Amino acid sequence: MDKQPTRSTLLPYGKQWLEEDDIESVVSVLRSEFITQGPQIDKFERKVADYVGAKYAVAFCNGTAALHGACFAAGIGVGDEVITTPITFLASSNCVLYLGGTPVFADIDKNTYNINPDEIESKLTERTKAIIAVDFTGQPAEMDRIEMIARDRGLTVIHDAAHSLGASYGGREVGTFGDMTMFSFHPVKHITTGEGGMIVTDNEDYYRRLLLFRNHGMTRDTQFMEANDGPWYYEMHELGFNYRMTDMQAALGVTQMDRLDQFVARRRMIASQYNKAFVDLKGLTVPAQHLSANSSWHLYVLRFDLEQFTADRKELFEALRTENIGVNVHYIPVYHQPYYRKQGYADVNCPQAEEYYASTISLPLFPKMTEVDVNDVILAVRKVYHSYKR
Ligand SMILES: *Cc1c(COP(=O)(O)O)cnc(C)c1O
Repeated sequence: MDKQPTRSTLLPYGKQWLEEDDIESVVSVLRSEFITQGPQIDKFERKVADYVGAKYAVAFCNGTAALHGACFAAGIGVGDEVITTPITFLASSNCVLYLGGTPVFADIDKNTYNINPDEIESKLTERTKAIIAVDFTGQPAEMDRIEMIARDRGLTVIHDAAHSLGASYGGREVGTFGDMTMFSFHPVKHITTGEGGMIVTDNEDYYRRLLLFRNHGMTRDTQFMEANDGPWYYEMHELGFNYRMTDMQAALGVTQMDRLDQFVARRRMIASQYNKAFVDLKGLTVPAQHLSANSSWHLYVLRFDLEQFTADRKELFEALRTENIGVNVHYIPVYHQPYYRKQGYADVNCPQAEEYYASTISLPLFPKMTEVDVNDVILAVRKVYHSYKR
């Protein structure tokens, strides 16, 4: 193999895209009256809710806090089981543990890598309370089937759409499925606020509970108070947290939202360039898309049929890193984690998730990538492929 790496500097797998107007909107908040939760929060919440077509939105300091809020609003507690996928970020199931509930892992579909609705059905028990569906890589999970399973049993559906802002399924925008949808604004996600998250919902009761939860369980709304000692008075009705977003972050979110469509279009373009470059290489599998899904492409995951290579996944990964391609692996099945193993998950085994995990590598994908960057990834994958192909 040619010793000269494809690139001289590391190309990360994901990264934000900030412009002058983003910087100016943050600075203008710093010059204003409110720097914690203020007018920019309402503006940002309205903008996201309108974009996806939801009634209500509640911004949080990060997506994990937002998921915690959604589980709280859904009333998840001790003894409740919540079905989710093992191929996700830790937050998708940790949010259940925060409230004393029990995550139950259902295996993935072998083609889309999203949670398999048949596997959800096989995990249902009398204690099942909710389903947390994750749109892995930006491709929506089979939300029509998941909604149907939930409707039949009166389950709550929390949609973890951290990967899928701007995606749609069956012509319906992500943000309108299930009971509550979570978006994350971490810098690798579609738009960023540094750290940030949001829940959108059409349900007024969930909306009120999310507002309480974000702010210590406190209310100053007289229609909900048991007493009223005077104008200073507030009441705490639930054990909430301080999960507020700042106005600086929300202002950044407002200007970032203006470029969401452009960001998603660029992500789709890069994914189609990768597909074209790799689809005909035997031993590689490009990401299969469900007929109803229109992904917003947070991640691009390439599968290696390891029997066709002289190297294992770790060596292929390291070879790509040597080329200065910031490849990654998404994700380690959550039940592998030592914490989960100690909580009684040591015997959990989802065969499709295992097979997927053993042979996957995520390629860099973010809208600010240049044509040269995209081409470098393609060249590096081809170089490594030909060096190790049997
Ligand atoms: C990013 C992410 C979250 C939330 O993450 P935060 O960093 O807390 O905003 C939740 N679920 C998934 C699948 C994610 O990728």
